[in-house]
Amino acid sequence: MPELPEVETVVRDLKKVIVGQTITAIDIIDNRVIKDLSNTQFKRKLKGKTVQSVTRRAKGIIIAFDSDDYLFVHLKMTGQLIYGAKQNIKETKVVFSLSDGNYLNYNDQRLFGWLIYTTDLDTIGYIKTAGPEPFGRDFNCAFIREAIKTRKVPVKTLLLNQFFVAGIGNIYASEILHRAQISPMKPSFRLSDIECERLYDQTVDVLKESIRYRGTSMRNYRDSKGRRGRFMNRIRVYNREGKDCLSCGDKVKRIVQSGRSTFYCASCQD
Ligand SMILES: [Zn+2]
Repeated sequence: MPELPEVETVVRDLKKVIVGQTITAIDIIDNRVIKDLSNTQFKRKLKGKTVQSVTRRAKGIIIAFDSDDYLFVHLKMTGQLIYGAKQNIKETKVVFSLSDGNYLNYNDQRLFGWLIYTTDLDTIGYIKTAGPEPFGRDFNCAFIREAIKTRKVPVKTLLLNQFFVAGIGNIYASEILHRAQISPMKPSFRLSDIECERLYDQTVDVLKESIRYRGTSMRNYRDSKGRRGRFMNRIRVYNREGKDCLSCGDKVKRIVQSGRSTFYCASCQD
């Protein structure tokens, strides 16, 4: 699933190419990704609209129009927004024709993604309930110290909790904890002040570094030009069970927490 760095990469790319453009036509191949509106309604709402901005909230993409309305896109597991030529592959579900003659293709192999048209972003539960942005003012060491006080869940589970912090998924949770040298099994409330600091610093650093490398392409993720992210080459533990820890040479271990794989080094993380 695309996490914050992948979504941020798509947002930054789209900003450069679709702001100021008008949607001239919409081709709906499979409407299961469109929420709450019929094909006719969706086309009527969006045709003729001019893009004013492209921003991100948590793992969601907000395309704002100059008419004070929005298209909210959540890529979920396998969604892709590809700008350029019109695509006609089996994953292509919706194609927006743009005034510059190019197209914005929404591809989604597994159809879990959402395209939501709205005049009020607060009506979208996902946006309304998302926790603080990792690069925002509300997320800092003091916030973490306060938040962990009452939480007994393992710190890996806490990082995946979107109400605690927005945008982190399974890949970055393992990477952040490895770099912060904190065991993923450690109960959150047991983190020392120093560990809270390391957790904060590494959360910000790992996500920023991944954005610089245009995200991680484990399986389906592609940027808006259809390219893979290069953070894949900088991964230290995720999906590396039995391989050497890049810090100490010990073997990377895999455990299952809340039904999801966690990768860590028992020597480096305690
Ligand atoms: Zn190690």
